[in-house]
Amino acid sequence: MSKLTEHEIGEIFHILSQHNPIIKTELNFNNNFTLLIAVVLSAQATDVSVNKATSVMFNVVNTPEDIVKLGVDGLIPYIKSIGLYKNKAKFIVELSKILIEKYQSQVPRSFENLCSLPGVGRKTANVVLNVAFNKPTIAVDTHVFRVSRRIGLSSANNVVLVEEDLLKHIPKEYLMIAHHLLILHGRYTCKAQKFNCTSCPINALCLFYKTSLAKDS
Ligand code: SF4
Repeated sequence: MSKLTEHEIGEIFHILSQHNPIIKTELNFNNNFTLLIAVVLSAQATDVSVNKATSVMFNVVNTPEDIVKLGVDGLIPYIKSIGLYKNKAKFIVELSKILIEKYQSQVPRSFENLCSLPGVGRKTANVVLNVAFNKPTIAVDTHVFRVSRRIGLSSANNVVLVEEDLLKHIPKEYLMIAHHLLILHGRYTCKAQKFNCTSCPINALCLFYKTSLAKDS
């Protein structure tokens, strides 16, 4: 449930979109398949660390067939700087085999089919649907979860319910870019630890800030 009015939510996304006129994922990729691989690698890792690894790996990998040819042992040297690399290597080889066998080497367009792939959960599927297929999905990662609750967009305490609240309350015209706006806001302004509310562009609308001011007065 959101504690903000429809008008306040519209204002928040208007301001965030003015502050972030260029919206795109910070992960580097060449096609839908390399996007999927980059998102799988980004679980519990930073986009910077993933981009560093894939800048070399994507010179030799562009298709599921390339991954299967490398195999787990051939893939590991490219990704071993990324957390959980052994499991991720296994997932990536397995999912590449499935894409070849079941999906003509293409990344599937449905949430259910994406989630059935090894290493692909709700968040990864939503990122791929949004970035590759222009679907108005919202991937709730740690930043989106934190800032949504601080701002007052949702008071839910699990990612599925926060996702539901965001899909229900964010105005339609911002749904395609909402996940990027909230991630960028969480990464650079409303950080987990050192966040500076006084210089935040949406502080006048933020529930956390308004509540803190009320407590201090
Ligand atoms: S006012 Fe503070 S808590 Fe609210 S969104 Fe901005 S930085 Fe985050």
